[in-house]
Amino acid sequence: MNAILDVSPDDFTATVEPGVTKEALNAALRPHGLFFSVDPGAHATIGGMAATRASGTNTVRYGSMRENVLACTTVLADGRVVCAGSRTMKSAAGLDLARLFVGSEGTLGIITELTVKLHPLPEAVSAAIVSFPDAAGAVTTVIQGVQVGLPLARAEYLCPNTIRVVNATNPGLSLQERHTLFLEFHGSSQVGLDEQAGLMGRIAAENGGGDFAWASHPEDRTRLWHARHNAYFSCQRSRPGSIILTTDTCVPRSRLAESLAGAMRIMADAVFPHMIFGHVGDGNFHVLMAIDPSSESEHSEAETLNTAIVDLALSLGGTCSGEHGIGFHKKAFLRREAGEDATEVMRQIKSLLDPRNIMNPDKIF
Ligand SMILES: Cc1cc2nc3c(=O)[nH]c(=O)nc-3n(C[C@H](O)[C@H](O)[C@H](O)COP(=O)(O)OP(=O)(O)OC[C@H]3O[C@@H](n4cnc5c(N)ncnc54)[C@H](O)[C@@H]3O)c2cc1C
Repeated sequence: MNAILDVSPDDFTATVEPGVTKEALNAALRPHGLFFSVDPGAHATIGGMAATRASGTNTVRYGSMRENVLACTTVLADGRVVCAGSRTMKSAAGLDLARLFVGSEGTLGIITELTVKLHPLPEAVSAAIVSFPDAAGAVTTVIQGVQVGLPLARAEYLCPNTIRVVNATNPGLSLQERHTLFLEFHGSSQVGLDEQAGLMGRIAAENGGGDFAWASHPEDRTRLWHARHNAYFSCQRSRPGSIILTTDTCVPRSRLAESLAGAMRIMADAVFPHMIFGHVGDGNFHVLMAIDPSSESEHSEAETLNTAIVDLALSLGGTCSGEHGIGFHKKAFLRREAGEDATEVMRQIKSLLDPRNIMNPDKIF
């Protein structure tokens, strides 16, 4: 099911079947001067992204699938076909069922059609790299940039370990192995954008940041974001034969510096290679642990560290999953995060819509 059914430039919407990939949709939208903004690192389908309520590097500006799915059609376990939401920009008509299916990880039904929001391609785009002696300086720069309303479209943090493996796997990239931000600004004119990027440069300098290295040509920006999107695979390649266990905590932005510093303390004595990077503009980062799949002790240590990082995020008012979903692995965390009553309501909705438990059984619940 990979057909693009409709593109409506006047409404800024597209209606697609769930197997359409974000890349295919964006290729079809380019001639209209529009784009679909949600961009997880994986080569994902719009259906899979809706099912996991995915986000990506530019959520800080354009929102996640939660904000970008306007409507969806879902086939329920008993064969009923439910059309939820509409192409309107807003609706106050009844319960918001579209929002129920977005993020349900295939447990409530199969999404067969989606209408998503589109955005105009920005007139002006600038990207820059800036590095810091510590993570706190990098994170504080992003938070302050967001607080003063700068048009940040992407704000990604990469720890020195991540920079090292990204350098090693991307020919031509030789970034300093420091705490680094990859930034992108979108605006309606280059002059306005230069001014705002200048302000971001001053904020970075006040937090110990070095000079901005600008990626002015589209191909330089593509190289930069390609390296960032492939950071997961770079980490895996840094220890041949390893598998990656990744955390996905997200905290309110005001607690991000604490959450990141705490995760670094927790990981300090880990016996396996690990890297930290993430969408810090949203308060979300990933700790990637490259573990030996045949080692019981590494598995067990990774799980202990993962739990400690989630505990910290929950204690700071955060969540165990900013974007990857609950799946099988985070079920116990969900119960702790949402509480018994809320988890029970979720379970009741699941059994109402899927009494025979045939839709992705055992995920989430
Ligand atoms: C390298 C890497 C980087 C990633 N980076 C990010 C990131 O930056 N941000 C982020 O949010 N996520 C990220 N992810 C996770 C990724 O976004 C999700 O895996 C992706 O959204 C899933 O899309 P998919 O097409 O691969 O779906 P699948 O993996 O095929 O499916 C995902 C889930 O959705 C269900 N599902 C799929 N289609 C439907 C449907 N039509 N109806 C109902 N249920 C359905 C499946 O049963 C499954 O439970 C990353 C993953 C990888 C491997």
